[in-house]
Amino acid sequence: MVKILVSACLLGEKVRYDGGDSRKVGLLETWQAEGRVIPLCPEVAGGLPVPRSPAEIQADDRIINIEHEDVTDAFERGAQKALELCKHHQIEIAILKEGSPSCGSSLINNGNFDRTKIPGQGITTRLLKANHIRVFSENELDQVAPLINPSD
Ligand code: SF4
Repeated sequence: MVKILVSACLLGEKVRYDGGDSRKVGLLETWQAEGRVIPLCPEVAGGLPVPRSPAEIQADDRIINIEHEDVTDAFERGAQKALELCKHHQIEIAILKEGSPSCGSSLINNGNFDRTKIPGQGITTRLLKANHIRVFSENELDQVAPLINPSD
């Protein structure tokens, strides 16, 4: 069976920095019911609490939260946990929440905490892609569906 790594917040788990979720109904739920989905929140897996201070990637690639604390190590630990899970389950596809400093696949915040998005990838996305795992956002499920054979 083709398995998929999915951002836990997209599945309704309340793991976002603000204690909420980003639940996405529809195909993700179908795939989860089929047993294909391996959920992970890289930031929680990296040791950060819920709720937590929002953090953004800076120009030098360090990740700093709004309290000016450097949380790069936790983000990198979470990315490694995501990669380990993918290797363990032989996962080649990930669906990660767009815009997040961990999970974003085409957009991230600009580092100034002013809610402005810029092109970029989160820390987990970068590591997975560097290891040949295809990363899609929750807005690209139509591209993932043809890669999944319902009988497989
Ligand atoms: Fe969701 Fe990823 Fe942020 Fe965790 S790190 S809350 S899975 S977007």
